[in-house]
Amino acid sequence: MNAPAPTPHAKKEDAGVADGNGAKPRVAFFDFASCEGCQLTVVDCLQTHLDLLQAVDIVQFREAMSEREDDYLIAFVEGSVTRPSDEPRLQDIRKQAAIVIALGACAHLGGVNAVRHGWDLDAVRKTVYGDAGQTYETGEARPIGAVIAVDGVIPGCPIDREEFIRSVRGLLQGRLPHPPEYPVCVECKLRENECLVLHGEVCLGSVTRAGCGAICPTYQTACEGCRGLTPDANLAGLRADLAARDLPTEPVEAALRLFLSRELAQQEA
Ligand code: SF4
Ligand code: SF4
Ligand code: SF4
Repeated sequence: MNAPAPTPHAKKEDAGVADGNGAKPRVAFFDFASCEGCQLTVVDCLQTHLDLLQAVDIVQFREAMSEREDDYLIAFVEGSVTRPSDEPRLQDIRKQAAIVIALGACAHLGGVNAVRHGWDLDAVRKTVYGDAGQTYETGEARPIGAVIAVDGVIPGCPIDREEFIRSVRGLLQGRLPHPPEYPVCVECKLRENECLVLHGEVCLGSVTRAGCGAICPTYQTACEGCRGLTPDANLAGLRADLAARDLPTEPVEAALRLFLSRELAQQEA
């Protein structure tokens, strides 16, 4: 299902985030199917950046507080949509919030949950839950953008804490998050890393959106694509290059499926 196109500027102005009236924006955090690691990163950020905490009113954040109010301007949503009952809840969030930001790969891409994309769901349920599988309300794992219009994305699994801090500061100044459109390889080269592909690793940095500072290859771990594809990702070129280096197809396709199964399906449709 295609979500309607977002109208971020109109919403931002309506929201008064940048109108200088002195009122603190009311912010809420929500989670759907996820490991909650992105929310933990937010908690970590707020502990070290008290200026952010003082600049907003957090009115709902299950991970961090028990108070809860339903009047908010900005909603950060973590997690993928996997159950029919998720949809009305997400739509209510969209109705209330002037700005909805997808927080992390689960909300942005469907996340690791979407690795089951393209498989028979009954077989998946049986494999995971055995005979009890039929009693679980679960279905296709989708990014929140498949159900509602989303105004911005903070990608990654988990999100990058510096990018989150920059994004919140931008929102407070009336700017939506804009993750880079160039690939991780650019950041990797800027860090003067030796390319892992030369050592037979399946690294997806050439097709993956940058913004994480190429943290994985910097620590000698191949990029797994958690920030999603760049707009002009050359998947055919990546596959051809890895094949020319005698890397077997299966690990390449497995790496591509970990975070990118839905984006791949869209490209191949
Ligand atoms: S994106 Fe990764 S860290 Fe964030 S909630 Fe999903 S699985 Fe957890
Ligand atoms: S290690 Fe990965 S991210 Fe770094 S240059 Fe090579 S392919 Fe690109
Ligand atoms: S290097 Fe790749 S897998 Fe690692 S954080 Fe960056 S985008 Fe995600």
